[in-house]
Amino acid sequence: MAGKRLILMGPPGGGKGTQAKRLQDRYGIVQLSTGDMLRAAVKAGTALGQEANAVMDAGKLVSDDLIIAMINERVDLEDCKNGFILDGFPRTVRQAEALDKMLKEKGIKLDSAIEVAVPDARLIERIIGRFTCAKCGEGYHDKFKQPKKAGVCDMCGGTEFTRRADDNAETVGARLKAYHDQTAPLMPYYQGRGLLKVIDGDRDMDVVTADLESILGT
Ligand code: AMP
Repeated sequence: MAGKRLILMGPPGGGKGTQAKRLQDRYGIVQLSTGDMLRAAVKAGTALGQEANAVMDAGKLVSDDLIIAMINERVDLEDCKNGFILDGFPRTVRQAEALDKMLKEKGIKLDSAIEVAVPDARLIERIIGRFTCAKCGEGYHDKFKQPKKAGVCDMCGGTEFTRRADDNAETVGARLKAYHDQTAPLMPYYQGRGLLKVIDGDRDMDVVTADLESILGT
């Protein structure tokens, strides 16, 4: 069985969150999304949430130390034993180095770092217009994926939907810039460690999932 401790990388709006959820369901491994964790902290009004809120709204990156501490605690929990998908982390070379050190100390080996590549021109339209079922988290899009019945989630029947505060035209540019400046250097970092696999994310979601499954195996 191929290993199931992986990093899913890719630009904002590139579909990593959607794909990570699918892999979670398919393989019984857990999606660890630092963006979701931060949004939960903002909603709960914790000290971390208060610190992160303005940075996220500006489309910039939250401090490495905060994120590293958050992940360090999270991977120790029981649900990570079977495997995990890091979604949105690491996002800087410093985070990647901290992750290497942390996993080494815990005696955990990373199996692959997968980049879901999507050109910039496609990302803006994918980000603006997306929304999520507030109950089950299923993702939708005004243009590309409307619920079959307007206002009702296909998956759970929920009728409330949310949009991310940072999914707007002003913030997207800053998020893409942060990605190119700070996160893109991770590709050579993982390439050099023999862990990088790149898949074309600018295709039908199911085709992208099939590619990921062929990397992960049964
Ligand atoms: P995401 O949901 O992954 O798009 O993340 C949303 C926002 O959360 C980002 O624009 C950052 O402000 C913050 N964030 C998420 N993950 C990280 C990370 N690993 N390092 C720094 N900031 C992060």
